[in-house]
Amino acid sequence: MARYTPMIEQYLAVKQQAKDALLFFRLGDFYEMFFEDAITAAKELEITLTGRDGGAEERIPMCGVPHHSSEMYIQRLIEKGYKVAICEQVEDPSQAKGIVRREIVRIVTPGTIMDSKNVQDKLNNYIAALVLREEQIGLAFCDITTGELFVNHCQVESVWDELQQFQPVELVVPDGEEYAELVESIQNQTRCLVTRNESVYSDTKAAEFLLKRFELISLESIGLSEKKAPVTAAVFLISYLEATQKRSLSHLKKPVLLSGETHLVIDSFSRRNLELTETIREKSRHGSLLWLLDRTVTAMGGRLLKKWIERPLAVRTQIEERLQAVEELVNELLVREDIRQMLQNVYDLERLMGRVAYGSANGRDLLAISDSLAILPELRRRLLGCQSELLQRIGEQIREMNETVDLVRSAIVDEPPVGLRDGGLIREGFDEYLDRLKSASREGKQWIAQLEQQEREKTGIKSLKVGFNKVFGYYLEVTKANTHLVPDYFERKQTLANGERYVTPDLKEKEALILEAEDKMTELEYELFIQLRDRVAAELPDIQLAAEAIAQIDSLQSLATVAVERRFTKPVITESDRLVIVEGRHPVVEAVLKRDTFVPNDTELDCKNNQIALITGPNMAGKSTYMRQVALLVIMAQIGSFVSAARAEVGIVDRVFTRIGASDDLAGGHSTFMVEMVELANILHYATRKSLIILDEIGRGTSTFDGISIAQAVVEFLHQSPTAGAKTLFATHYHELTELADRLPGVNNYSTLVEEKGDSIIFLHKIVSQPADRSYGIQVAKLAGLPPQVLQRANEILHVLENLSDAKQQVAIEPELSSESATSQLSLFDEQSHPLVEEIKSIDLMNLTPIEALTTLHRLQKMV
Ligand code: ADP
Repeated sequence: MARYTPMIEQYLAVKQQAKDALLFFRLGDFYEMFFEDAITAAKELEITLTGRDGGAEERIPMCGVPHHSSEMYIQRLIEKGYKVAICEQVEDPSQAKGIVRREIVRIVTPGTIMDSKNVQDKLNNYIAALVLREEQIGLAFCDITTGELFVNHCQVESVWDELQQFQPVELVVPDGEEYAELVESIQNQTRCLVTRNESVYSDTKAAEFLLKRFELISLESIGLSEKKAPVTAAVFLISYLEATQKRSLSHLKKPVLLSGETHLVIDSFSRRNLELTETIREKSRHGSLLWLLDRTVTAMGGRLLKKWIERPLAVRTQIEERLQAVEELVNELLVREDIRQMLQNVYDLERLMGRVAYGSANGRDLLAISDSLAILPELRRRLLGCQSELLQRIGEQIREMNETVDLVRSAIVDEPPVGLRDGGLIREGFDEYLDRLKSASREGKQWIAQLEQQEREKTGIKSLKVGFNKVFGYYLEVTKANTHLVPDYFERKQTLANGERYVTPDLKEKEALILEAEDKMTELEYELFIQLRDRVAAELPDIQLAAEAIAQIDSLQSLATVAVERRFTKPVITESDRLVIVEGRHPVVEAVLKRDTFVPNDTELDCKNNQIALITGPNMAGKSTYMRQVALLVIMAQIGSFVSAARAEVGIVDRVFTRIGASDDLAGGHSTFMVEMVELANILHYATRKSLIILDEIGRGTSTFDGISIAQAVVEFLHQSPTAGAKTLFATHYHELTELADRLPGVNNYSTLVEEKGDSIIFLHKIVSQPADRSYGIQVAKLAGLPPQVLQRANEILHVLENLSDAKQQVAIEPELSSESATSQLSLFDEQSHPLVEEIKSIDLMNLTPIEALTTLHRLQKMV
């Protein structure tokens, strides 16, 4: 067995406590890594790998980073998905007997980064945990920088979607075998997966822990009684955070249960499809609904608005409250402008208070907090003067904190240093003893400054100089030529090439006073600062409330500002099933198009006579823009935003579903058709009478017959299934489906208006209530710039095909009128069917390239 030196033995013992992290082991001014950790870190950080004799035969691989620049290295490792355990010396080396004691003081992981450089202002940085309880998954999400904590529960099948919503950078899961399969299916949802024993948290213990942690009387008060899975998940997560951070984390807020009943549920497919917070293609914020609506001034407001957009409301009173608040801010230009102005001076209080609670806030952070709190009285006054109940309530939530503001301002200098241990933090006049020390040091320095003149006169040495260096302290310097003039009370201290340095007893005495005062000063400044920070930390609950209030008012003013600029109107919210939109516009497309070129369209949907709108029309005519517009307007209304329409009446919707093309890259490995069917299955499974469904080109990924059959069956299902009534917009290329409108009440035909000009077409982008008669594929191809000879040939072929198809019977299957009349009439496979007719029918015209059209025609010709 290799025997190591005591230091390496100590290292190995500490490493046992952080096996899955890279251990940063403090040695003097460096953090050193050894063994495997050193090899990994040297590679990832591109630093030199060296070796060290550790007592054994072989040298131990080693690399290190300087303590003062360690943050940068830690960040780089975290970004690459590593965890870093920080091991510090926990006793004064000069006091230590034998080897200095060292302990892990913190484990940094992607989900527990406190440093604001690593997290984006307007984004949350979530860490998640899950547990399985009685077939249910309990989930907890925490942003440790802001202290927010959310919990939820769901079925195993929905975990993927739930995680997708929060996109946690780190996910903590129990290490039991029963989790293996689940973990495999979700591990690509996060950068860093942590497994951890959870057996210690029985459900009762978890409940007790939560009650104690947040000083609650009952779990009922936060809606978590009887919610075992979320409670245990929350406790599992908190205990992980405490174990890695090794401090109290007093800024964590009470867990908030995310409930589908009070909110509009938008699954992750739809959130993407509708480009709520980022665009599908570029994954950029620019071009999303969030981009359009975000005129928030503070980072806190930005984060809250994003949450509102991802989880709009489903309770009428709450929506109306927000709408009234927005309305008042729309109408009161002055109030709005004042509020925006005030918010300009607010820093990220949530994250700053996170740093205070965490113990990492510095002087600048405290000043930023105090500057932000300084606006509270005026903000409160403004809000209490408003009519809207919500605005008033937000005002009441704000407590003035002038004392804290004054205290911080009187304590901290205007431009404090980043560090806390070098002095220069505390303002004069704040602490009497500190002031005394400061003046002692100042006076001492003045005395020394005049010493030069004094001694010159006394000794007659004109070139005598007073100087200071770190090793010798203060000295009097005399050149060689004058050393014979030096009096006895000069003590020689150092010989230089062309002179000598001396001290005098008086000088030594003063120097001792100055150094002592300065030592004490920095020590005292640090102590005073920590006391001050604790005083601010004591205000945590009130400051967090104020921060929430600021986030809310900022989000509301943002909605109002956009509403004014983009001429949005206030929607009427009802609990009926009706959705009426008059002259609706797609808010984002309108914003990027040239001014006033967007063509507005009306919508009327309900559960009965206008349940399903079948929309036909050529490509590029505006079908999908129209359908997205309807979904976005409903979402905006339920956020509490004004909407881009002349008028809108929105019956509250419980879920929005979309199946829109172009999401094929979503679930890697699946074909487009498979993805489409998975999404469709999800919709048909979960849609209710109160849902809004957008379906674009269902069935396109397969042969025409399969496609039509599936599309028709879906329409019939939505129309007749037990949960029938879901308001549906259905765009399709299959003109055959338009006949459904004649047979199924509540299914109506719409199309996009196209103007023909010779053999060209102009898209009018107007939705009219009639089916499209043609698909204008060749005209669209012309617009796309296909060569003229191809277009001409395609026209000829089309002509032939059309003549042929006139001769054959209609393709559509009669719809099932009710589920009882299962024997639907099949007109498709008539007895006398001719092979040529069959062949022609099977041509997927919409997806045929010109070349394929030619070869098909050739084949047909050969059959005659
Ligand atoms: P489709 O789904 O029918 O293929 P899109 O909805 O993708 O067509 O619309 C094609 C383009 O037409 C859009 O990119 C947009 O620029 C423009 N467009 C759509 N609707 C409108 C409208 N109502 N007013 C003005 N331009 C529109």
